[in-house]
Amino acid sequence: MNRKGIIIVVSGFSGAGKGTIMKALTAKYDQYALSVSATTRDPRPGEENGREYFFVSNEEFEKLIQEDGLIEHAGYVDHYYGTPRKFVEDKLNAGIDVILEIEIQGALQIKKRYPDAVLLFVMPPSAKELVNRLKGRGTETDEVIKMRLDRACEESEGIENYDYIVVNDVLEDAVERVHGIICAAHNTPSRNQNFIDDIRKQLLELSK
Ligand code: ADP
Ligand code: 5GP
Repeated sequence: MNRKGIIIVVSGFSGAGKGTIMKALTAKYDQYALSVSATTRDPRPGEENGREYFFVSNEEFEKLIQEDGLIEHAGYVDHYYGTPRKFVEDKLNAGIDVILEIEIQGALQIKKRYPDAVLLFVMPPSAKELVNRLKGRGTETDEVIKMRLDRACEESEGIENYDYIVVNDVLEDAVERVHGIICAAHNTPSRNQNFIDDIRKQLLELSK
């Protein structure tokens, strides 16, 4: 049975813990490939070009769009973010699941272009805990935190477009929920059509 790779889109409010979950998930399970996005924002302390993001100029980003090098892109709090096409297509063709940690506008573009993608939305256990995590991360000014909370209010209106929500209460539990959803997605009939057709053919043969 040849297993096809699935695009897994992971969105959620800034500070909900998407990055933390993805890091723990890929450390525990080595079958997932994490797409590295291009962005025009500046690196945060500790971030490396090519690891967290490809940090590019506005001109370089626009060139990527023109060359059709991105499978989706969106503006988020004054900067552009986009998913490079080649990595995703190479992994899918090799049967590997690819995780895109992207915001909601990009997620909806992916759903349109790749209807087979699975969309997950990571939620904090409460809004207060979201603020605590954003403040605790200590990477943004109060002004940026305010912008991110405003954005969270807007994004909360789009949650129903997703296939699943994942509550990030206890990190290890959230990681298992994500892994469980992806494993289940591999077992839908539509993702196993060749196998189903093959069994049908075998049954016909045997019943002759
Ligand atoms: P996002 O990628 O969604 O913006 P991060 O992964 O950077 O969020 O997490 C935001 C902050 O919350 C970080 O300081 C992280 O350590 C913390 N955090 C993430 N998951 C949990 C959790 N399950 N419990 C407590 N703190 C968490
Ligand atoms: P941050 O600046 O905190 O790293 O990311 C800001 C937002 O941009 C997050 O919601 C993150 O998921 C989203 N993001 C990161 N990469 C991409 C991308 O390639 N495309 C889109 N549409 N959003 C992205």
